[in-house]
Amino acid sequence: MIPIATNLEDNEDIRNEYFDIIIERLEKLTGEKLREHILFKKSFCINDFEKEYNSYGGNAYGLANTLMQTAFLRPNLKSKKVKNLYFSGQLTVPGPGVPPAIVSGKLVAELIIKNEKNI
Ligand SMILES: Cc1cc2nc3c(=O)[nH]c(=O)nc-3n(C[C@H](O)[C@H](O)[C@H](O)COP(=O)(O)OP(=O)(O)OC[C@H]3O[C@@H](n4cnc5c(N)ncnc54)[C@H](O)[C@@H]3O)c2cc1C
Repeated sequence: MIPIATNLEDNEDIRNEYFDIIIERLEKLTGEKLREHILFKKSFCINDFEKEYNSYGGNAYGLANTLMQTAFLRPNLKSKKVKNLYFSGQLTVPGPGVPPAIVSGKLVAELIIKNEKNI
């Protein structure tokens, strides 16, 4: 996985350029000739994330971890506009990654149970 910014130019030549850099680095670090053992190669990048997931700027991780989109400044679990609408998953609290996405489901379930009791 090669972390890059969103909205960058994406084409076959650029992908191959990055691939060469990574393979060269891996071969240098491991002391093994890896390239000659590759039987199949497939990449998934900005254009694919846009096409397959309609993701903003071809991003893979949702919201950037900038200060204004971190911790309690992330989108709420409960919609401010639509009554009884809740959100869970990496785009809300606590954030990206499988464990936080699962925690998010637990938090929202607890919130719904708590709010239901108050109705
Ligand atoms: C390349 C890559 C590597 C990663 N590696 C790791 C890792 O090593 N460890 C880790 O913890 N996390 C990793 N992550 C992050 C992790 O995969 C995500 O944070 C996590 O999967 C988010 O879970 P989620 O349920 O919030 O969203 P998702 O898993 O994205 O699920 C959202 C689902 O909603 C569906 N959907 C979207 N729009 C609609 C719609 N309009 N109608 C119906 N369905 C819709 C999508 O098809 C998708 O199935 C990685 C992510 C990427 C992209």
